Amino acid sequence: MIALKQEILLVPMPDLPGIVHGLVSLDPPKVQCDGCGLVVTGESLAQTVLLSGVRFDFRDGYTRRLCVDCRALELGSAA
Ligand SMILES: [Zn+2]
Repeated sequence: MIALKQEILLVPMPDLPGIVHGLVSLDPPKVQCDGCGLVVTGESLAQTVLLSGVRFDFRDGYTRRLCVDCRALELGSAA
């Protein structure tokens, strides 16, 4: 069973130097939503990036990494 831990941080965590935006920790791997501050922690980097749902969207020009709820709120759907 794959476990993803979720928590809300009201302050944005800084990006790691040289790493794509939104990945705020590599050990353990964490991604953060730019909208609500949701931080998802997984067991591996690939698992965290692929399964967290916190991702970029072409509709905002791939500038913000958003969770499912924030994409629905800000972009009109969770697609
Ligand atoms: Zn969010």
